[in-house]
Amino acid sequence: MIETKNLRKQFDGFAALDGTTLTVPTGAVYGLVGPNGAGKSTLIRHITGIYRQDEGEVLVDGEGVYENPKVKARIASIPDDWYYFMQSDVREMMRFYRGFYPDFSMERYEKFKEIFAIDEKRTIRRLSKGMQKQVAFWLTMCTMPDYLILDEPVDGLDPVMRRQVWSLIMSDVAERGTTVLVSSHNLRELEDVCDHVGIMNKGRVLLERSLEELQGGTVKIQLVLADENAHMPQDVNILHHSATGRVQTLIIRGDAQSVTERLSILQPLLLEAMPLSLEEIFIYELGGVDYEVKDIVL
Ligand code: ADP
Ligand code: MG
Repeated sequence: MIETKNLRKQFDGFAALDGTTLTVPTGAVYGLVGPNGAGKSTLIRHITGIYRQDEGEVLVDGEGVYENPKVKARIASIPDDWYYFMQSDVREMMRFYRGFYPDFSMERYEKFKEIFAIDEKRTIRRLSKGMQKQVAFWLTMCTMPDYLILDEPVDGLDPVMRRQVWSLIMSDVAERGTTVLVSSHNLRELEDVCDHVGIMNKGRVLLERSLEELQGGTVKIQLVLADENAHMPQDVNILHHSATGRVQTLIIRGDAQSVTERLSILQPLLLEAMPLSLEEIFIYELGGVDYEVKDIVL
């Protein structure tokens, strides 16, 4: 588990982190979403032990991270500025990673060489930005981390490579129980992969929820009625309604089972419940409650 408690960090009197509290449960894929300047990268640099906080705590499995090599060896990260050794070639970089991470897997290194298909003799400088990102993934995944911290990781990758990289990450989550923290300024980018989401703005985490919590309270229903003039049951709380031909799409507060039961009274020709996407949750469920959150993510 990753915890930050009331973290504060100032740069020349400006509070980049202003009481940041966040919890990433073990095994979660946690999406940290916020606009540019929210403090995501600064927070991540505290979690990876690069910065030391002015106040508050950063704990990984209950231990402080800063100047704690034992904990740091379990955390791998791709920072937003992953360009340390531009003069080195991929193989030299690999040796550096292997020196730092005791569990570095050469077997995986060779396997991923095939997947990424990048010549390991090329110097980092001479690779395109997208290829540099791929090398970052390649080497980072070989460290067999318990914690994988990614700062806007898929920026610069083409759609095919994005899918490739996410599928590598998600199979580690499934097989090794890797905990992932990934930041983005774009909620949509994280929608398909995250099971937890935190919304950050102006150095604070405004809201953090599991997808289950988010999806539990609201359901999307597709409905076709034989009698189109039938009245909805009174106690169904409809947040949004739209129709394409005879197919109605309803966003309704409540859990799928009880909402379906209520609507089956109408004897519909079609009645199907499905979870809302993250984006829909923010529009229909949280948007009305918290305008600040809505402005940030949409
Ligand atoms: P994000 O990653 O969400 O875009 P950052 O964490 O990079 O945001 O930045 C948060 C704020 O802190 C910004 O206003 C940025 O200018 C400031 N900041 C970040 N790092 C430094 C630094 N090393 N020195 C001075 N200001 C910084
Ligand atoms: Mg950033």
